[in-house]
Amino acid sequence: MPQDYPPGRGRVRLEAAGIPIEGVSIAGHESFYKLPTLRTLLEFGRAPEDVVGFSTVCVSHGHLDHAAGFAHFASRRRLAELPTARVYVPDEAALLFEQWIDACQKLEAIEYAIEIVPARPGDRVRLRNDLELTVLPGRHRVPTVGYLFSEIRHKLRDELAGIDGSEIAARRASGEEVTRREDIPLLAYPGDCSAEIFDACPELFRTRVLLLECSFLAEDDRARAKDYAHIHLDDILARADRFENEVVVLTHFSQRYGAEEIREALRVIPEPLGRRILPFLP
Ligand SMILES: [Zn+2]
Ligand SMILES: [Zn+2]
Repeated sequence: MPQDYPPGRGRVRLEAAGIPIEGVSIAGHESFYKLPTLRTLLEFGRAPEDVVGFSTVCVSHGHLDHAAGFAHFASRRRLAELPTARVYVPDEAALLFEQWIDACQKLEAIEYAIEIVPARPGDRVRLRNDLELTVLPGRHRVPTVGYLFSEIRHKLRDELAGIDGSEIAARRASGEEVTRREDIPLLAYPGDCSAEIFDACPELFRTRVLLLECSFLAEDDRARAKDYAHIHLDDILARADRFENEVVVLTHFSQRYGAEEIREALRVIPEPLGRRILPFLP
């Protein structure tokens, strides 16, 4: 029987700093990540049954290992009569996604409940009262954006600390702003990217969880990483002291590597970063 995945690769379920992430990511093959607590599906390189229920999807770029599941997703949501799903795609790729889905609708002679939303760096979307999505810049061979999920808290303004609750309620009722907004960057995902991303988007170093591709590990894959605008392990080693993240989930490893080979290669990452690295492996 032919196997879908290289040995030791395939479906992954893990928790990074309290954030569950489930999916598959193999470079050039298939990537998708379910983020149930962030109410979002990242990518749909394939659309297995358990991703069809997500009504918010963030796609980083048009490479089909990240996007091929789109038509399948749209068609099956229609079949299940699910409400409109919002699919964020890079602004420059939005028209092509529209044309693709339009062709599929014509092939099937039905209309999908899909809203394609062009994403531009800096855009902010409220996903829930306490959860915001920010579009980040991307750096890859085709138009790409990244995504940042932030928890939004409203804290009592410092100068009101110690004041009686009824007094605060009265001030609020009179229109005074009694709280200040606090953004907690929970998880960032820059999509497929070259090492240029670290200068283009330095906030990656400061999120609680960073979901970062590391397609290539081997020494003789350095040129390949550069040619295809992907991260090589060396790019991470060169910046090892800059990652302030609680957890760095490394993902999107090439299908050339087996799971053991990947774990072995990551052992060279020095402390204190080494212990905060979590490979996206089963
Ligand atoms: Zn990819
Ligand atoms: Zn790509």
